[in-house]
Formats: sequence, C-alpha cells, structure tokens
Amino acid sequence: MEDCIFCKIIKGDIPSTKVYEDEDVLAFLDIAPVNVGHTLIVPKEHFRNALMTPDDKIMDIFKVGKKIAEALRANGAEGINITLNNERASGQTVFHTHLHIIPRFENDGHNPWNQKSYKDNEAGEVARKIIAKL
Ligand code: AMP
Ligand code: ZN
Repeated sequence: MEDCIFCKIIKGDIPSTKVYEDEDVLAFLDIAPVNVGHTLIVPKEHFRNALMTPDDKIMDIFKVGKKIAEALRANGAEGINITLNNERASGQTVFHTHLHIIPRFENDGHNPWNQKSYKDNEAGEVARKIIAKL
C-alpha cells in the first residue's frame, strides 16, 4: 500500500525503533507513547484493521505481543493494556492492522474506560442482537 506509513516502516523507507522482527511480523516503539515502552505489533502484509485480517495473522501478532508484554513486565511495568483499534470511531488513525502493547503503572493517569450502565432489561436485548449475528 503506497500511502501506508506502516508499510513504509516495514519496507525500511522511513525509520522506526524496532524491538522484534520475523518473516511475518514487525514490532516497533510507538512514536508518541502513552508510557515509555509502548510498542506496536504489525503484520508485514497490509490489512486495514483487525476485522479484515485473517485469523492466523491475528494469532501471529498476538503471540509476538504477548512476548513483548512479558519483556515490558520484566522491565518493571506493573500492568499491560493490549489494544486494537478498528475504524475511526474507535480511535484508529493508521489503517494498517496494529496491536498496541502499553505498559501501565499504578496512578499513571491513563484512563481508557469511560463506562456507562444498562437500563432495566436492556442488557438481555443487547445480548440477543449480538447472538443473532454470530
Ligand atoms: P491508532 O490510533 O490505533 O491507529 O494508533 C496509531 C499509532 O501509531 C499512534 O499511537 C501513533 O502514535 C503511532 N504512530 C504513527 N506514526 C508512527 C510512526 N512513524 N512510528 C511509530 N508510531 C507511529
Ligand atoms: Zn500498510
């Protein structure tokens, strides 16, 4: 994909700080980390996001992501968020599948959840709609 910044990183056309590479997967530091060590894991093949990525390629990035998460833990992270944004409404800004591995610390000020609540009987109806599409 000509205009894809992550394809350019994979090709070596623009620089990145790599932490892992194999035949199918590249991992590099996010240029604007939530916390230092925040790493992105990408399949070398271009897909728009996780929903459009074959299951085996998703497995590949999760396997590498777990290794990176363990390494970040070994370097002192107290917790890890593993996140995949899909489409603009979710916060996706780069449209090449990437897994975020974010080291977390007690009271680091990052709050990814702004939670709501269900009204009476709403949860059952929502569940039925999801189940109907599975
Ligand atoms: P998302 O919002 O899930 O699409 O995440 C895209 C991420 O890519 C953001 O966290 C950016 O900081 C990161 N990013 C964008 N350009 C680069 C780059 N050239 N090198 C490393 N990370 C990048
Ligand atoms: Zn790409």
